[in-house]
Amino acid sequence: MKGRVAALVGPRQVEIKEFDLPEAKPGAVLTKIRRSNLCGSELHIWNHFHPLIKYGVLGHEMVAEIFELGEGVSTDYAGNPVQVGDRVVAPYYLTCQKCANCLRGDFNLCLNAYTYWKQPPENPPHFTGTFATHYYIHPNQYFYKVPDSVPDNIVAGANCGLSQVIFGLNKANLKNGETLVIQGAGGLGLYATAVAKEKGAKVIIIDSVEQRLEVAKRFGADCAINMKNYASMEARVQEVQRMTSGQGGDVVLEVAGVPAAFVEGLNMVRPAGRYVSIGNVNVSKEFEVSMSPGLITRKSCQVIGVVRYNPWYLYEALKFLERNHTQYPFGDLTDKEYSLDEVQIALEKAEAREVTRPVIVP
Ligand SMILES: [Zn+2]
Ligand SMILES: [Zn+2]
Repeated sequence: MKGRVAALVGPRQVEIKEFDLPEAKPGAVLTKIRRSNLCGSELHIWNHFHPLIKYGVLGHEMVAEIFELGEGVSTDYAGNPVQVGDRVVAPYYLTCQKCANCLRGDFNLCLNAYTYWKQPPENPPHFTGTFATHYYIHPNQYFYKVPDSVPDNIVAGANCGLSQVIFGLNKANLKNGETLVIQGAGGLGLYATAVAKEKGAKVIIIDSVEQRLEVAKRFGADCAINMKNYASMEARVQEVQRMTSGQGGDVVLEVAGVPAAFVEGLNMVRPAGRYVSIGNVNVSKEFEVSMSPGLITRKSCQVIGVVRYNPWYLYEALKFLERNHTQYPFGDLTDKEYSLDEVQIALEKAEAREVTRPVIVP
C-alpha cells in the first residue's frame, strides 16, 4: 500500500511524493493523518529559514489515528491502552533520552530532535512530517491517546502552540491572582490567554489588529491594548503600568516574533518579574535590537527562553482541552481546509494572511 507526502524540495517549493507505507518497527507506531494545521513555523521552514529542515516532509501539527502498532507497543506514554483506530497526537520531535540535554531533563532541547524530520523524504520511513496521508511515530517519540470528547479540529494544534505556552507559563510559574501581559494575539497568544485564565490570572493582551484583540477577549482577555491607539513603546508601557497599579506585569509573554517586542516587554515587567520569550526565534544581524543590559539588572527580572516543550506537556494540553474545550472558541483558530495537493496554495494564502490558519486534510 502506498501513501503520499508533501515534501519541501527547495525554498518555497512543494512537491507531492508517493512511497510504500513502511512497516511499524518494534516500539514505533504508523498512523493515518486525520488533519494537520499549518502554523507560522511552517512558513518559516517553507522559506528555508529553519537551520536544519531544508529538504524534507512538511507539517508538524496533527491529529492522527493508529494504523499499525509496532511490536511491544500496547499503551501510549501515559499508560493508556491503545489499539488500531485510536486517535493520537505526538510531539513533532524526538527525545532520545541519551544526549547531554535529555540527560539533564531538558527533553525539549534534545540534540537529536529532528533526526528524522530533517531527512530527505526518500529515506525510510518517508512519513516524517504531517502534511501527508500517514505519519510514522518513532520509538523515543512520545504519543498520547486523544480523549474521546475532544474534537479533531480542536486537538490538531495541541502538539505545538498549546503545549508550548503551557510549558512556558509553567516555567514562569504564573500564579493565581497575578497579571500576565501577552505580546501578540495570534494562535499562541490566544492559547496563552485561555491557559492563564484557567490559572486564575488577569490577562492584558497587546496587538495591532483590532479583530485579533476581539477574539482574544472571547478567549477571556481582561484588557486589550491596540498598538494603533498607543503608537509608541512609551505609551504602551505607560498603559500597562496604569492597568497594574504602577507595577507592571508579573509575567510578560512574547509571542509576537518581533525583535523590538523584547525591549518593550522588559519595560513592561514588574521589578523581579518574569519575561518569557517564545516568538523570537531568529538569530542574525537583522534581528538584533539595542538596549541597556542594566534594565534587566535593575529590574532583577528573569528572562526565560522557551523552545518546544517537554513532551509530557502534550499530555497536560490534552487534559486542559478535555476540561475546557467547550469554554473557549478553540474551533475558531483554524479557518480553511485544503487537500494535500493544495499545500503550496495553503502556504501562499497563509503567508499573504488571506487565511489565518489553514488545515490540511489529506
Ligand atoms: Zn506549529
Ligand atoms: Zn536527546
